[in-house]
Amino acid sequence: MTLRLHDTLTREKREFVPLNPDRVTMYVCGPTVYNYAHVGNARPVVVFDVLFRLLRRIYGEDHVLYAANVTDVDDKINAKAAAEGVPIEVITARYLDAYHSDMSALGSLRPTFEPRATRTMDAIIAMIERLVRNNAAYATEGHVLFNTAAYSDYGKLSHRSMDDMIAGARVDVAPYKQHPADFVLWKPSKPGEPVWDSPFGPGRPGWHIECSAMIEQNLGLPIDIHGGGNDLIFPHHENEMAQGICADHVPAYAEFWLHNGFLNFGDEKMSKSLGNVVLVHDLVTHVPGEAIRWALLAAHYRQPLQWSEELTARAKKSLDSLYGALRRASEVKAPVIAPSAAFLEALDDDLNTPRAFAELHALAGRLETAVGADRATAKAELLGSAQLLGFLAADPDAWFQGDVDPALRARIDALIAERVTARTAKDWAKADRIRAELTALNVEVMDNPTGATWRIREKP
Ligand SMILES: [Zn+2]
Repeated sequence: MTLRLHDTLTREKREFVPLNPDRVTMYVCGPTVYNYAHVGNARPVVVFDVLFRLLRRIYGEDHVLYAANVTDVDDKINAKAAAEGVPIEVITARYLDAYHSDMSALGSLRPTFEPRATRTMDAIIAMIERLVRNNAAYATEGHVLFNTAAYSDYGKLSHRSMDDMIAGARVDVAPYKQHPADFVLWKPSKPGEPVWDSPFGPGRPGWHIECSAMIEQNLGLPIDIHGGGNDLIFPHHENEMAQGICADHVPAYAEFWLHNGFLNFGDEKMSKSLGNVVLVHDLVTHVPGEAIRWALLAAHYRQPLQWSEELTARAKKSLDSLYGALRRASEVKAPVIAPSAAFLEALDDDLNTPRAFAELHALAGRLETAVGADRATAKAELLGSAQLLGFLAADPDAWFQGDVDPALRARIDALIAERVTARTAKDWAKADRIRAELTALNVEVMDNPTGATWRIREKP
């Protein structure tokens, strides 16, 4: 079986062969930490986490290097810091912590490297200097601009003509540009904004150069895979590619470009500027992280994903059925757990998660109906497959306890604790009385040497 991925640059799905199988490299554009992440922001994180896990399985955990940047200096961060009257570090530390805890609640592994813009200044400045030396950039009025005329392939990634790009709404017009499509590498800071010294004058970097410099510094060019949301193809990734190729004279910037589709809410793309956002930080307080993760992977990553409450409810139901099958098979001893062949085949086909989910349900079905060794194999394959994708990490009983109303859960926990104390004191009459009370609440108690666990009885 071979992994096949769709490449935005060549517009084809082809076999993934890393440049060096001992050192597979992937870069994904990360967050700008000025606010909580919404579920649209979380989609690429979860999608590329799946790819990271799959690559680690194929090439070995120590042979995959994954970098995702943290943009920690930016206009929005500056504005928020000014509004609160605090240094930008206070803002970025607060929202980076929240980002880490929210993304780990969704089962995402931390990337190998999380470079930060403010700590990459030397590499950024060195790369701009090289671009100027190579005549691919020019300094003017305190700015340094990339010279798009110096790069004949400009527009190749986004499949745009120069006219399209000039017409693009995101291309800023400025009198000091030699060509309207030229973009900023370095710009002067406004009064009160963070500022760094450079050979081009005091100022701060543009956004695009940050990613190129971080890739060069952490992974080296070219890389195997560059990922991100498809709203980044132009101008961000087009510009990254132009910078990297012109600075280092490499034949390619990334061997594969992968882009995920939008996450829509109602009829619109979910975005902070439209104000229609669902924050992960809020969602995880009442929806299990695995259910949010399932919902984010329910459509193929290249397709748009329609977000709704119903989507997360369906995701929760799917996981309930898998956890239910596991719970009913708690006595089955699984041999060495490993993903099934059909499951891996689905992921190898450009990360076809809907097909992989169908295989998880098929495995759960086999676990319910098979007998003997087949049942044990089904359990091993269900666990191996689901856990590769970041699911079924919880104990099945603990999973269903999450459905119990918090007040009732607190009461059950208190009764269980009281009963453990009674048993330790050998007050069997009291212990039995409490058990009867729990039974009346439809709670089953399982005693073990260190105390007791519980679960809600399944309805007959
Ligand atoms: Zn980037």
